Amino acid sequence: MSNNKEQRHVQKYNPNEYNNAVLCEVCGNITFADDYGNTDKCPNCGWMGCSGDELMEKWHGIGYPMLVPLSRAREQYKAGQKFKATFEDFINGLNWYKEMLFWYNNKYYAVRYRDMGIFFENKETKRIYKSVDDFVAQANIDGVLLKDLWG
Ligand SMILES: [Zn+2]
Repeated sequence: MSNNKEQRHVQKYNPNEYNNAVLCEVCGNITFADDYGNTDKCPNCGWMGCSGDELMEKWHGIGYPMLVPLSRAREQYKAGQKFKATFEDFINGLNWYKEMLFWYNNKYYAVRYRDMGIFFENKETKRIYKSVDDFVAQANIDGVLLKDLWG
């Protein structure tokens, strides 16, 4: 009997486990959150959120970890669209995370804040921009501006 008690006691507590039933912030269906309020991928709409998505949108213009801000995610869901981040969301994400990674044509690109500026690099090349504004205005892949090839 005391054994049972001890066993229960040593069961590992994992705050990252998605074991709290909550309502999805986007579609309202039941989904599951960990003890910090981060939700697992919603089985109905696919949204993953954090407990502070409204504030994330208000302060940083993005959702976490989906990047798409919550209010637009709700609109996209209502319209039957997939969640899709815009180039502006990407830049907001860069300003918040200080680093963003993406795949384009089977190549992997990284954009990072560094002391010297914004590094835009992949395996073959590295370009440095003085500021985020310069990055937005000039960053390109094979001559096509990132903002134009987005999506
Ligand atoms: Zn949902």
